[in-house]
Amino acid sequence: MARALTPYQRVMVVVAHPDDMEFGAGGTVARLVREGKEVVLVQCTSGDKGTNRRDVSPEELARQREEEEREACRVLGVREVVFLRLPDGELEPNLAFRERIVRQIRFFRPDIVITHDPFRPYALHPDHRAVGITTIDAVYPTARDPLYFPHHLAEGLEPHKVAELWLFGAQYPDLYVDISETLDVKVAALAAHRSQISDPTELAERVRQRAAELGSDGGLDFAEAFKVISLRR
Ligand SMILES: [Zn+2]
Repeated sequence: MARALTPYQRVMVVVAHPDDMEFGAGGTVARLVREGKEVVLVQCTSGDKGTNRRDVSPEELARQREEEEREACRVLGVREVVFLRLPDGELEPNLAFRERIVRQIRFFRPDIVITHDPFRPYALHPDHRAVGITTIDAVYPTARDPLYFPHHLAEGLEPHKVAELWLFGAQYPDLYVDISETLDVKVAALAAHRSQISDPTELAERVRQRAAELGSDGGLDFAEAFKVISLRR
């Protein structure tokens, strides 16, 4: 691999459900880890409604999906995963949710935050929109300025400026990340989500095809794509 993806060192991924990071940015995360970056994951829900079965309780499903997510993170080399355990399918972009994200930003102090693009037209999952918009609002201006959630100061959580937002699932991406060398790791991480997969071979083929499509948009063999928002430091 030619050139390092970014000069920044600390990366935080914020997603709605177990497997969202892997689908949107798994190859990129694996590549960042290989380049010596520190990646942490904030998982807003534990995907407790992500099934068409009726013989499983939400609590049981959440336990299973958290275990699957931990396994996926081991495969990708993610250093730590935080489960906020908010209810699947019921996320709303409100101040209470924003406080939860700001707290994680002020604690982990990332240079780059990766999340869902909430601005893509006709993006259907309410949790994806809610996490994307709330995370963007948490990064700027909330986590940055000390008068927001001043009780954080008393807990030792200082304000923090994030340098860049990377949005996956973007309508207008402007960063294509070459994942040719980490596509297999992405597929392996997705395969950890056994509760979500009926046919692993079909999944691998679908992921490969999608990476090839994004790659052809970006002049690469296999890619993931992001809209990057740079914030003044
Ligand atoms: Zn999702």
